[in-house]
Amino acid sequence: MFHKTKKKLSYLYATLYFLLFSLFVIVLYFSLVKLMENQQINELEDFYVKQEHDFFEHVHANTKTLSYDPNRNFFYYIYTKDHKFVHGDESYKGLKNQIEKAFGNRNPSEDLVQHYEWQEEHFLLLKKPIFNDDTVAGYIIVGKSVKSQHHFFQMTKYLLIVLTCISTVLIGLLAYFLAGKAMVPIQWSFDKQKKFVSDASHELRTPLSIFYSSLEILEIEEAHQLRPFGKELIADLKDEAETMKELIDKLLFLARHDQQQVPIQKEIITLSTLLEKVSSKFQRITPAEIQFSSEIQKNIELLGDASKIQELLYILLDNAIRYTNSGTITLTLLKNKDTVKITVADSGVGITEQELPLVFDRFYRSDAARQHNGTGLGLAIAKAIVEQHDGNIYATSTVNKGTTIHIEFPI
Ligand code: ATP
Ligand code: MG
Repeated sequence: MFHKTKKKLSYLYATLYFLLFSLFVIVLYFSLVKLMENQQINELEDFYVKQEHDFFEHVHANTKTLSYDPNRNFFYYIYTKDHKFVHGDESYKGLKNQIEKAFGNRNPSEDLVQHYEWQEEHFLLLKKPIFNDDTVAGYIIVGKSVKSQHHFFQMTKYLLIVLTCISTVLIGLLAYFLAGKAMVPIQWSFDKQKKFVSDASHELRTPLSIFYSSLEILEIEEAHQLRPFGKELIADLKDEAETMKELIDKLLFLARHDQQQVPIQKEIITLSTLLEKVSSKFQRITPAEIQFSSEIQKNIELLGDASKIQELLYILLDNAIRYTNSGTITLTLLKNKDTVKITVADSGVGITEQELPLVFDRFYRSDAARQHNGTGLGLAIAKAIVEQHDGNIYATSTVNKGTTIHIEFPI
């Protein structure tokens, strides 16, 4: 009974946790990336300061030297403001040409920090102008490989994603378990209440039967002594006792359904034949102002309880007749790919949009329906019967145009 609520609560907790934890992880990840990058930039800036004097030395010497050492941590390239190479230290052969292609036509006075990827290597580059007095004389590009850091963050990212997913699943399971614990007292009082309704209905049946039979005896044996008013009273009392018996039977059915105690004998039934029988019965009893028709596909079978399905149809057709002053009622049965569908459509008073979700609730009756007799339990019982057959029931309606009740049973 509380399975759905428990599931809903667990989903809610898990989603909330996922959102909060993801936010935390994202902030943590990007803070770490930023922190690490700042540290790298600081290192590059220190290196830049150290190499700046090379520019003037090599411009004056007018030599273009590019030394190469693969073990060096940093590399740098110095250019004049007209993008002419002056001097450099390289630790990756061929990188200079790539960098010139990417940064060669940039403004020499611009400060730039950039990530650069080449041949599966990741570099962090810093481009800075070199000043002679206050004018830009050239620029320097310093860089270093950040492959290991890049790799580290890539791994961290995957690890955090996996951690978030696993912890969300664990939190979901934990939430489900805790929701179950929290539901124990609610379930207990709910069970008590169901048992009370079931016991009370059961206990009321016997005195009511005695009451009814006593009235019958009174009616038969004392009839000659009774005045017409007394006879009328007895007839009224019998009517009321019958209504009460019906109400108690319905309550008992619902209470037993809640406790999953309703006996149900499922067997293969020919639904088409059953519907045809019910249809011809209703054809006879529908008032003259209503045209009753049916469209029943032949040879449709269902695993179910014939008496329960019949009761279900009676409830729906009874409503259709009761809430249609004049017009049509159509009962249909057809088979889809993996469902059997029954519909009961009428052209009666209809149900408002606000009331539509409530009509399957116990004791719910619309204001318009109160002019007629009824308990408000019919559709609740219909729903319980459909649930016993693992089916689905819903209503569609337009006010003053009519109502259709749809039932789908899985095959
Ligand atoms: P009873 O328990 O005696 O059947 P009831 O007909 O009032 O009483 P339900 O069958 O559960 O109770 O229906 C609930 C309410 O839904 C009705 O009171 C009515 O307002 C609305 N309703 C149900 N079927 C129809 C219909 N075919 N057309 C319009 N309104 C309907
Ligand atoms: Mg009804």
